[in-house]
Amino acid sequence: QNALGSLGKSRAKFISAEERTGVTFDDFAGQEYIKRELQEVVRILKNEEEFQNKGIYCPKGVLFHGPPGTGKTLLAKAIAGEAGLPFFAANGTDFVEMFVGVAASRVKDLFASARSYAPSIIFIDEIDAIGSKRGGPDVGGGGAEREQGLLQILTEMDGFKVSTAQVLVIGATNRIDILDPALLRKGRFDKIIRVGLPSKDGRLAILRVHARNKFFRSEEEKETLLQEIAELTEDFTGAELQNILNEAGILTTRKDKDYIGREELLEALKRQKGTFETGQEDNREIPEELKLRLAYREAAVAILACYFPDPYRPFVETNINSINSQPNMRYAETSGRVFLKKSDYVKSIVRACAPRVIEEEVFGIDNLCWISSKATLKASRLAELLILQTGMTAFGKAYYRFQRDLVPNLAPKLEALRDEYMRFALEKCTSVLREHHEAVEVIANKLLEKGGIQAEEIWEIYKTSPRLAQPAVNP
Ligand code: ADP
Repeated sequence: QNALGSLGKSRAKFISAEERTGVTFDDFAGQEYIKRELQEVVRILKNEEEFQNKGIYCPKGVLFHGPPGTGKTLLAKAIAGEAGLPFFAANGTDFVEMFVGVAASRVKDLFASARSYAPSIIFIDEIDAIGSKRGGPDVGGGGAEREQGLLQILTEMDGFKVSTAQVLVIGATNRIDILDPALLRKGRFDKIIRVGLPSKDGRLAILRVHARNKFFRSEEEKETLLQEIAELTEDFTGAELQNILNEAGILTTRKDKDYIGREELLEALKRQKGTFETGQEDNREIPEELKLRLAYREAAVAILACYFPDPYRPFVETNINSINSQPNMRYAETSGRVFLKKSDYVKSIVRACAPRVIEEEVFGIDNLCWISSKATLKASRLAELLILQTGMTAFGKAYYRFQRDLVPNLAPKLEALRDEYMRFALEKCTSVLREHHEAVEVIANKLLEKGGIQAEEIWEIYKTSPRLAQPAVNP
């Protein structure tokens, strides 16, 4: 029985407490540099000799930010596990209630519990729910409540003495952009660590972790299979990879097999991708018109990928075998040290316009459908990123990510400039697609005929097809 568990219950239902998390850094795979950085925090927490009397103090707060399911909670528990400290966790959304004063008193409770077991760790997941910008738009309601709670967190964190930093506060969010800048100041969350999506090697490492307690026919087969899955799971999070292995385990049992095989893994992967719902292969025919639209969309994406090639991520293959609101084009893993110039951002906006532009060109503006919607959204997001976060546009040289409030009437200014970039990108994309109209047709036909096409063949068609002269579009 966990001694702290009862404390958690009696004092406050919203705190979960663990005396020992039992999680270690071995449980987190990929992004090794994050662990290296945190190992030092753990050593300071354990008050190892090398740090004593050297004026080295522990950070008061560590903030993890990144998409859900990438292992932020896992890392927080691993810090507690490695340092051998009790772990007190709460969720930012639990603080915010309609009753006045609840948020602040819950924050107080959380810190008081942790202090009475100090040294200890506090973990606040979804800290943005309570720590979003003061005076910002009040999305979830309870604005004043939240403000009280946030002030209480700031007070509590400022209250610790540096020399006796006995409670480490760890926060997690996937919306660092809306956090109140006061939280990010020195002496509060002074270590900010991005936990991103894993690379291919990272995915393989994560799969290995979660395959530890699973049965495979042999070590060699396991390794080959995991490598194959790592290849096929670009943009997957650690949590999704874990799900694939669990699901494969369940399928194996259901089929009364002793070992997880390739078939089960691929089926689990399909399920995770959501292309498999009924428990039966979805073999309903894709309607002819939709196929035609998919073929044109993929052909247009391919032409833009040739016209403005991404130097860090060559494309590999595309097909019309699955129906998605974003293109099916597959790219290689990002390689090399990425170094983006303004023109690279603009090119990526132009590329993202391809699905929408070709649909309009071929089927007419009154006859659009949903298959280009995600791409259009992506294009405008990219334009906003360029404007707000790079300082490379006429908008100004500041980095607005944390300081949106510094610019009066930001929204209309942002929209005006974004629309300008979008207008340019749509025009440029249209002119590229008209110039390479012939190649678009050839690729679309190939796709309809064979279902898929490889990069090599796309390049060949792009280079050899006749072009139409187009009036120049300049930024
Ligand atoms: P987050 O807090 O970022 O939303 P979690 O830590 O809750 O993500 O991740 C959920 C689960 O997914 C973890 O408990 C772990 O099993 C698995 N997972 C996620 N990322 C990793 C990783 N990098 N290595 C190993 N397992 C991972």
